[in-house]
Amino acid sequence: MGGRLCSADSLGRIVACVDAATLRQGIHHVYDRLKRNKALRDLDGLAVAVLDGHETSASYRRCCDGCLKRTTNNGQTQFYHRNVTLMLLCGSPPGRPAVRLLLDLEPQRDGEGELTTALRLLERVLAAYPRAFDVLLADALYAVAPFLNFLLSHEKDALVVLKDARRDAYQDAAGLWAQQPPQQGSYNSRDCRWWDIPDLRSWPDVKGTPRVVRSEEFWTVKPQLTQEETPLTANWVWLTTLSVAQARTEQIVRLAHLRWDIENQGFNELVNGWHADHVYRHQPQAIECFLLLAFLAYNIFHAFFALNLKPELRRGRTLAFWVQLIAAEIHALPRLSSTAAPP
Ligand SMILES: [Zn+2]
Repeated sequence: MGGRLCSADSLGRIVACVDAATLRQGIHHVYDRLKRNKALRDLDGLAVAVLDGHETSASYRRCCDGCLKRTTNNGQTQFYHRNVTLMLLCGSPPGRPAVRLLLDLEPQRDGEGELTTALRLLERVLAAYPRAFDVLLADALYAVAPFLNFLLSHEKDALVVLKDARRDAYQDAAGLWAQQPPQQGSYNSRDCRWWDIPDLRSWPDVKGTPRVVRSEEFWTVKPQLTQEETPLTANWVWLTTLSVAQARTEQIVRLAHLRWDIENQGFNELVNGWHADHVYRHQPQAIECFLLLAFLAYNIFHAFFALNLKPELRRGRTLAFWVQLIAAEIHALPRLSSTAAPP
């Protein structure tokens, strides 16, 4: 505090010595304080988290024990690091931004698929945060029985993208939505047509009766170049274990669209705002610890921004303003005197 920034080498040395479990405890401590202060609100009565795999760095030259390998089109071997991250998505109190917390990550190991990594992460997260979320959002990779059953056995629900039109559940739902008139709805000023097919019995491997929701969305954009209104459409299909009583069709559509928060507000900000794609020390534990340290900083910063700053102070000032103000205050703190205190 009040001194110069430590060098990149020092940061590499520090994160190589830190214990990942201690950093995870730090993240848990911040979560716990916010939870006890009732600062982490549900989204329409549900506690929601999102899970996704993410590549954090790649190199042709350097590798370590934790590196994954792939061969590129020109025959070169590339080394890279990937992890699965879990982010908690919370509702926002009136007049305040939403709080999102990066709770944990698990490095993907060489030779294993993302699903295996995700289940290892979930085992740890569910033990540490048994009541943090009710429903988990994920992409199409997770629309598989082992993932859905794992969550159901822990009394959690899943809401995942369903892409593969060859799947029995997809075909069954498609047969039904061809015969059913859609519900009219709207999402984010888009006009929508929704089909909601509950109690699908065509997936015997899944303990429970999955439900498929489809949303056809219509909106227009006006590109700056042509200034002509251009119609756009999107067609989404999701699979969920949430019943109709737990979440209405509209709620499923709103929650499902939050899946991108982990990319837009999580991974993108970590890279662009926190330079978290930089490898300070190419060693598996150092990479994991640096990311956990970045998660801790991200959580504290956003909790401060959303919950501590008064709305009238926040108004008209960007996030970047607060980042610079905090950095300036940290570095402007007076150096502690190195002379001995008088007796
Ligand atoms: Zn490596």
